[in-house]
Amino acid sequence: MQDQHQSPEPPREARSLDSQLPQTPLRRRREFEQDLLRLKLSPADTKVDILGVLSELPDLSLAEKRQLLLSVERYVLNPRSEVPARIGAVLESVLRLSRAEQNRDYALKLFRMALETLRKEDVVRQLQEPLEKLLRLYLPPNSQALFSAELFMRVSRRLEHNHEDESLIELATLGLFFFPFHGPLRELRADYNLDKGDAARARGDYERLLEQYPDQHGYLLDRAEACLKMEDYEAALDDVEAFLDEYPDDPLALKKQSECLFQLNRNIDSLKVLDRLVQLEPANPELFLQRAKVNESLDYFDEAIKDAERVLELQPGNPEAKQIRHSLMLHRQSYGMEDDIYTAFGRGDEEAVLGEAKIPEARFSDIGGLDKVKQAIRETIEYPLKYPEISSRYGKRAGGGILFFGPPGCGKTLLARAAAGECQVSFINVNLASVLDKWVGNSEKAVSMIFATARKRAPSIVFLDEVDAIGGSRSSMQSGWEKKLISQLLIELDGLTSDNDKVMVLGATNAPWEVDFALRRPGRLGRLIFVPPPGPAERAEIFKIYLNQRPLVSEDIDWSWLAQNSNNYSADAIRQVVENAATIPWRSAIETGEQRAIGMSDLKSALESTSPDLLEWEKLVRRYQEFDQQTLKRPGIGFRKSSEPSAT
Ligand code: ADP
Repeated sequence: MQDQHQSPEPPREARSLDSQLPQTPLRRRREFEQDLLRLKLSPADTKVDILGVLSELPDLSLAEKRQLLLSVERYVLNPRSEVPARIGAVLESVLRLSRAEQNRDYALKLFRMALETLRKEDVVRQLQEPLEKLLRLYLPPNSQALFSAELFMRVSRRLEHNHEDESLIELATLGLFFFPFHGPLRELRADYNLDKGDAARARGDYERLLEQYPDQHGYLLDRAEACLKMEDYEAALDDVEAFLDEYPDDPLALKKQSECLFQLNRNIDSLKVLDRLVQLEPANPELFLQRAKVNESLDYFDEAIKDAERVLELQPGNPEAKQIRHSLMLHRQSYGMEDDIYTAFGRGDEEAVLGEAKIPEARFSDIGGLDKVKQAIRETIEYPLKYPEISSRYGKRAGGGILFFGPPGCGKTLLARAAAGECQVSFINVNLASVLDKWVGNSEKAVSMIFATARKRAPSIVFLDEVDAIGGSRSSMQSGWEKKLISQLLIELDGLTSDNDKVMVLGATNAPWEVDFALRRPGRLGRLIFVPPPGPAERAEIFKIYLNQRPLVSEDIDWSWLAQNSNNYSADAIRQVVENAATIPWRSAIETGEQRAIGMSDLKSALESTSPDLLEWEKLVRRYQEFDQQTLKRPGIGFRKSSEPSAT
């Protein structure tokens, strides 16, 4: 585009005319501003001339020189200005303007811009001489330095001394144009780019250096650092590992390796590297801090706390370590890991943690209904234990876990307890959800303690309640510690089938479809048994069981009425109804002194004041049925529908 505001006068004449007149400071400043405007508005060729004249003015202040240099950047060296043909003259002006020390580094930038504006073949012809002059400005006045890579190095050392990183990068870029194979210059630029945050350019330079000097393994680490900054952890790890092939114990490389692994979520591997590093540098707080973080993300809370404490020993008050320790301690407390039980756990004191070894008093006769289930338990657990010789003759062994499923409050736990009572073996009741909560970060250790205890107390039954609590079959939903808990559980279950018949495992769940598949494999909790809600006959039986436990019950109990009117009540709810019914005459006996038996009216009003608790659960029955289509094919009793239509 043609510039409309061209100056009509030739600049040189205008200047010489102006300079004849007497100068006051105000007049001079106005004049200078006009000069700048003229420089801005004139066509490219004239610009070079105006610049030439202005740069030769003897009385320019430092600020004015700086302004002129800025104009060179804005108006002269931009790609549209078409100056390349006369760039030598432009650079001569720049040189004149940059004799003052403060402007030299800026001049370097302009030279580098010139490099970009020029065609390659013009660079040496036009740039070399003024550049050599510029570089000499950095050196002592009578320096004889010739245009060489060495000259660039000497100047760069000076810039380095003054911490002028940007100029250093400009200088190295210029130098590398002329001496592209000069390693030290390239390394210099790469290092400074890495420091300044232009990791991509640094990476490119290290790449070139590695091509040029394949035996300089140090560049591998440098390139790894650049990759790390670019968050390309895979590439970084490759470089670090290639370096470690040569120097396997190099602490710096190991640190980078552990960082890459951590970033790539390979926490266990990262931890291994850190363990090694800690041995190499046992007093380096950074390592302990890093290991605390890795331990934390692996949910190894104890270890993480220990590491954070070590950091605080070495570096009292380290804020990150404080933060980690604080939040993990809180976490532990919020999971109810009171210190005494926690230390008991640490000591391996199973009695303090799991309670004393006890054989339950419950019997199958305490359980209403569920005859088929009882029979199945007898055959899998009781008979092989009680009659080992006969059983072994028929190849029947105790064990092979059973998983009960069915609605809450209908006897799954009671069955397991009664199984232990019938067989006279000790019973260890484990709620997996609370193991997970209570021993968060250590749940797999808790599981192995539980099974170690079960083996010590053998014969014994371990009852795993709420098996579905651990993450479910959708493995993506499992947290790190759930995965660890499950894999420990699998180890323990497999151990039982192989070497110990005296520990049996029973499990329970309300939601079998949520149970991790691995746990349901044969030999583990492979046998699924449905524990259904009680039908009318069972409900009558359960009413009987609980009323029979109370001496003062009227003779005229209408069992069938109770059975018919307690549809969708779980066994547990029936127990509660009886409890509430008993409260009515008992309260009046205390208040009035008149004792009467628990009667139908009490049971009726107790029933009326509660509502069935299995209605919600009935909605799930359809899901059970679908699930059952698959599970029926497995060994076990499988699904049995409630013996009456559901009341949805
Ligand atoms: P869950 O199936 O949820 O494990 P539980 O076995 O813990 O249910 O039952 C809770 C309580 O309900 C038991 O302690 C017991 O008092 C009572 N109960 C459950 N099922 C029966 C049953 N079939 N006969 C008698 N009482 C039962």
